[in-house]
Amino acid sequence: MAGNPAVVMRLLASAYAVSEKAGAIVRNVLYSGELGIVEKTGANDLQTMADRLAQQSICASLSKRFPKITIIGEEELPAEVVMEDLIENGQAEEILQKTCPVEYSDLKEEELVVWVDPLDGTKEYTEAARYLHFPEEAQIPHTGSDPSQLLSTALWLLDNVTVLIGIAYGGKAIAGVINQPFYNYQLGAKADLGRTIWGMLGLGAFGFQLQEVPGDRRIVTTTRSHSNKLVTDCVDAMEPHEVIRVGGAGNKIIQLVEGKASAYVFASPGCKKWDTCASEAILHAVGGRLTDMHGNAYHYDANVKHMNSAGVLATLRNHQYYASRVPQSVLQALKSN
Ligand code: AMP
Ligand code: MG
Ligand code: MG
Repeated sequence: MAGNPAVVMRLLASAYAVSEKAGAIVRNVLYSGELGIVEKTGANDLQTMADRLAQQSICASLSKRFPKITIIGEEELPAEVVMEDLIENGQAEEILQKTCPVEYSDLKEEELVVWVDPLDGTKEYTEAARYLHFPEEAQIPHTGSDPSQLLSTALWLLDNVTVLIGIAYGGKAIAGVINQPFYNYQLGAKADLGRTIWGMLGLGAFGFQLQEVPGDRRIVTTTRSHSNKLVTDCVDAMEPHEVIRVGGAGNKIIQLVEGKASAYVFASPGCKKWDTCASEAILHAVGGRLTDMHGNAYHYDANVKHMNSAGVLATLRNHQYYASRVPQSVLQALKSN
């Protein structure tokens, strides 16, 4: 390693390690069965013990090492001393070894904003947990009553869950980490569960195999649990060959970069800056785009509105095609900020 790594590389290396700690917390709360579910704005906007502990772990660990950075987490939590065993001090060596893109090499802590979604896909996480712990009572929407089908859906839902840590500078998402705590669940209990994907503008993205959807197939991925008429009208207007409904913003970005979907279409308010900051940085690092439904960029300065009011349109390629098909009714309903 040449010299002292740039602040942003050290921050990213810490975010990587902290996301793995948060991923382990998310797994452990699931195994404990003590989810401590709280409804925030309603039944489709939930918080669990995993969201709370993971956010405490991420925010306390990063602010301990980088006290001047602005960190914005999804969950509103009472200010309290965080237990020592939630603090992660590690840093990913793989990131420290990389050369920082020159445009970011002199950034100062005070100039960086970190957006934290400690658990993205909470709705799917709670549905999976309910089924795994109380199979006789639980139902899973869009799933039949066959126990083996219910079990496979419950496990599949766990793959919708991610931990998102995004780094912004000058209002732009420049780097991010996505931890997927239950990745490899198919291999059974002995498998090393979880993976961490990271990326930075000017460096690329790592921890997965970049792939495009083969041919010209339009495969649209959209929300599974927050749909409405605007969302479905907009998906239909894309004339998709296939629609994949999965939970989580982070998970949908993974669908794009792994060649499972060609566009992420969510024509509704609901997604927030902590859902899109890490997601956008990783997608942009490999040449993709994330915008609102008008094709306008979101901004990630510390003082912006949290809600992505004009929806989310994300693609690895052909953004213009999808943007051009957004219906007028959607454009009128969702004003750009
Ligand atoms: P989804 O694609 O439904 O999993 O949503 C992606 C992200 O946006 C998740 O963090 C959701 O919690 C959030 N989100 C989307 N729509 C809503 C909504 N109507 N209320 C609360 N959160 C939402
Ligand atoms: Mg989220
Ligand atoms: Mg969340």
